[in-house]
Amino acid sequence: MLRVTEIFRSIQGESSHAGRPCAFVRLTGCPMRCVWCDSEYTFTGGEHISIDEVINQVRAFACNLVEVTGGEPLAQKEAFDLIKRLCDEEFEVLVETGGFVSTEPLDRRAKVILDVKCPASGEESRNHWSNLDRLRADKDEVKFVIANKGDWDFAQEIIDRYQLESRSRAVLISPAWDQIDLKEMADWISGSGRNVRMQLQLHKYIWGPEARGV
Ligand code: SF4
Repeated sequence: MLRVTEIFRSIQGESSHAGRPCAFVRLTGCPMRCVWCDSEYTFTGGEHISIDEVINQVRAFACNLVEVTGGEPLAQKEAFDLIKRLCDEEFEVLVETGGFVSTEPLDRRAKVILDVKCPASGEESRNHWSNLDRLRADKDEVKFVIANKGDWDFAQEIIDRYQLESRSRAVLISPAWDQIDLKEMADWISGSGRNVRMQLQLHKYIWGPEARGV
């Protein structure tokens, strides 16, 4: 059984897959506490649902792209079985992870969107750095949520240290919601000459930052 906060169909709001129709399975719980977290409602509650039932609900959406997210989805051991089952069913599976659990046991068919926690998150010390060594340039993406210039400098240092521009499908730079001037951020990125992608959370602009199940 998995503890599940919500299962819904929407469009993908982030990553290089943004704008695509996508089914989301949002698992409950996260042991991290990023100061700017926008998913605190996933920390508690949720419903116990079997993997078969999750698959049935996802199938009903008739949507080939599925994202398993949270909270921190990989904090539940059964999430690895769910991801394998979704891959077996030939869904295109995205896994959005906060980056402190090892991605080593993940089904290789799933595509990883790996957060690297920057200093202003308060959780930098919990990054599981070996996850960056497992990135695959044709599939996996890395995301830095930045809240200030110090975070952007940190992101650039990690991008260089792990050669992320060539070792991942996309390096995503995302603003912490309501914490940073977007024009200033765009200037940093455009002036950097780097092969990175500034991304905004599309769903928040369409439905508003407090909307759930979208
Ligand atoms: S890892 Fe994600 S869900 Fe967990 S506290 Fe950080 S932002 Fe929130």
